[in-house]
Amino acid sequence: MSEITLEGVSKRYDRDVLAVDDIDLEIGSGEFVTLVGPSGCGKTTTLRTIAGFEKPTAGTVRIGGEDVTGAPPYERNTGMVFQDFALFPHMTVRENVAYGMEADGGYSNAEIDDRVAEMLELVELPDTADRYPDQLSGGQQQRIALARALAPKPDALLLDEPLASLDKKLREQMQVELRRIQQEIGITTVFVTHNQEEALTMSDRLAVMNEGRFDQVGPPGDVYDEPDSRFVADFLGTANIFDGSVTTLEDGRATVDCADAEVTATADTTTAVDDDVAVVVRPERFRFVSGATDGGTRAGAENVFEGEITFTRHLGSSVEFRLETVAGRELVVVHRSGLEGYDPGEQVTIAVEADDCRLVSR
Ligand code: ATP
Repeated sequence: MSEITLEGVSKRYDRDVLAVDDIDLEIGSGEFVTLVGPSGCGKTTTLRTIAGFEKPTAGTVRIGGEDVTGAPPYERNTGMVFQDFALFPHMTVRENVAYGMEADGGYSNAEIDDRVAEMLELVELPDTADRYPDQLSGGQQQRIALARALAPKPDALLLDEPLASLDKKLREQMQVELRRIQQEIGITTVFVTHNQEEALTMSDRLAVMNEGRFDQVGPPGDVYDEPDSRFVADFLGTANIFDGSVTTLEDGRATVDCADAEVTATADTTTAVDDDVAVVVRPERFRFVSGATDGGTRAGAENVFEGEITFTRHLGSSVEFRLETVAGRELVVVHRSGLEGYDPGEQVTIAVEADDCRLVSR
C-alpha cells in the first residue's frame, strides 16, 4: 500500500480562480483521510489532482514515494468512485468489475475470474455477476462501483462524494460498509464529502478545507473538540459561538466581553488583551446547574447562563435543548439524561467550565 503526499500544491483554473492554494498533506499508508468543506472550497480539485485528471499549477504529488505530478491518470494506479458511480449499463456486473483488469491487458482470464469473484464476496454481492446495473438497487450499484475500482488492486482509493445520491438510511449503511471494506484491505483512501457527519464518523483524519486551503487537519475527535478557527467550529457539528474581545488575561484564563455576555475561556500563549476572538462551546459541554432532575448547585460554577427552554428534541441517546438567555441569545445544549422536567417554557440555569470553552481567532 502507498502513502500520498502533497507538497505546496496549487491549482489555478483561470486568472481569477485559485481553486487550491498551496496545500501540504501527508496521508499515511492505509489511512482514511476525508477532505471536507463547503461547496467550491477545492475538495474535488484536490482529489482530481491526486488522480491525475488535473495538473497542479505548482507543487508536487507523490504516491508511494514516487513523484507523479506530471503522470497521466492511468500511470498512477489509483481506483476512483464518483457520486454518479457510472457503471457501464450495457455490461453485466462481472464485465463491469473486470473492466479495469481487461483494459490493463496483463491478466489471464482465470486471474480475472478469481479476482471478480473475490471482489463480489468483499462487497457481499456474490450472486449478482450476471445481472445488469439496472437490475440492482442504488446501494448495490454503489458496491459494484467500489468492487470495480478495487479489482485492479490500486495503490490508493479516491472517492468523490460516492454516497451523495443515496437516501439517508442507505447512506448510513454504506458509510459503515465502505469503512469495513477499506479496513479489511487496508487501502490508502481519500474521501471527499461536504457532509460533516460523514467526515466525522468515517475518517482516521479529516482535512477541513476553506477557500482552497486546509484550515485544520486532524483526527475527528480533536477537530471537533478543539477547532482551530471559527470556520472549523461552525462548519463541523453544532457550535455555540460567542464573538467578542479579550478584556483581561489572568492565570491562563481570558475574559471575553461579548455584547450580551462575559465568558471566561482557557487562553493559549498567543492570546492578548484586546484580541478579537470567538469562544466556541460545544452543546455537550454545558451542564444544568438548576432544574428539575440535576439538582445541581451554582456554587463555583463558571459561565452561568439563565434562560427559558424554547425547544427540545430527542437525538436518540441524548436530548437537545434550545435555551433563550435573558439577554436574548439562543444556546444549543445537548444533555445525556431524559427530558423530564425540561419542557419548553421552563426557566433553567446552565453553566460551562472555562476549560470547555475553546478560544479561537476570528
Ligand atoms: P463541491 O462540493 O461543490 O463539489 P468542491 O469543494 O469540490 O465543491 P471544486 O469543484 O474543487 O470545489 O472547485 C473549487 C473552485 O474551482 C470553485 O470556485 C470552482 O468554481 C472552480 N472550478 C472547478 N473546476 C473548474 C474548471 N474546470 N474551470 C474553472 N473553474 C473551476
